[in-house]
Amino acid sequence: MKFLMHNVVILGSGCAGNTAAIYAARANLKPLVITGHEPGGQLSITSLVENFPGFPEGLDGPVLVDRMKEQAQHFGAEYRDGSVLEADLSQRPFRLRVENDWIETRVLIVATGASARWLGLESEQKLIGKGVSSCATCDGFFFRDKQIMVVGGGDSAMEESIFLTRFGRKVTLVHRRDQFRASKIMIDRTMSHPKIEVLTNTVIDEVYDMSKGAVTGVKLRNTVTGESANRDVDGLFIAIGHVPNTKPFVGQLELDPDGYIVSKGGARTNITGVFHAGDVQDRTYRQAITAAGAGCMAAIEAERLLEHEGH
Ligand code: NAP
Repeated sequence: MKFLMHNVVILGSGCAGNTAAIYAARANLKPLVITGHEPGGQLSITSLVENFPGFPEGLDGPVLVDRMKEQAQHFGAEYRDGSVLEADLSQRPFRLRVENDWIETRVLIVATGASARWLGLESEQKLIGKGVSSCATCDGFFFRDKQIMVVGGGDSAMEESIFLTRFGRKVTLVHRRDQFRASKIMIDRTMSHPKIEVLTNTVIDEVYDMSKGAVTGVKLRNTVTGESANRDVDGLFIAIGHVPNTKPFVGQLELDPDGYIVSKGGARTNITGVFHAGDVQDRTYRQAITAAGAGCMAAIEAERLLEHEGH
């Protein structure tokens, strides 16, 4: 079997992967970026980004991530569409199957991110970025004095609901059961907040209005009584968890019980030569700027390791 050999392969083309590519390319390592199944990562489904330093007027998420890619390519990074379907990290160089090809790399930077979990409704999917969001920090600002709805029963849903009260006229938290996964303190804060209404045993069956290309309301159903009712809503935040994209590394990289990579300090993982960057390891901050910083760290560590090994 013929393998294509690389110094550095970066998995993922969000903020973390692209920033790692800029740094690795400027270090003359000619990195190969495998774009992954969501090219551009979370930014590609975000609208206006107003909190990335250096852009006081804000810029569109897809534009920001495209510019990062352009910058990396300018310094010699190579991009390839596709995802890693199998990985053998048992020895170096590491071996990766990308679609039908096997490639080898001395160093691997895993920046595959964590995908937001969605309800899975067609109307929800069509309205992502048009009133449906998975990130209150990114998009809350657009719903000043509006009706906001949050879905979920964990700490994220509580945290996002409380955060969104800064913007919304009213925040309605919708949860499918009457028991919450969130910590007691977050439940108490949410329940006692004057701007938050909590609907338990409630699910969303439809998001309106696909024909208008904007969120105008939802169809709710009470799972106990079976009754349905429509509600006016301007912004719908889905906070039902994230799924880190680590499937090909199960049993090789050390992962926590939810599948996130366990950091061994800096950008290091339990395997020498494999580094992590961005949301695949970070369940706390999940911001474009923190992911970019993590990509930078991973590339610097990769460069130092290769230099130390004489490559
Ligand atoms: P989580 O704890 O897994 O909660 C996900 C919630 O979404 C659950 O209540 C679940 O309902 C609901 N859900 C899942 N799939 C659904 C679906 N298809 N339709 C409707 N509802 C659905 O996720 P998380 O809130 O993102 O938290 C993840 C981890 O990060 C947790 O360990 C959490 O403690 C931590 N975290 C901590 C903080 C903090 O300490 N400030 C903030 C955020 C997150 P069910 O309960 O019915 O399964």
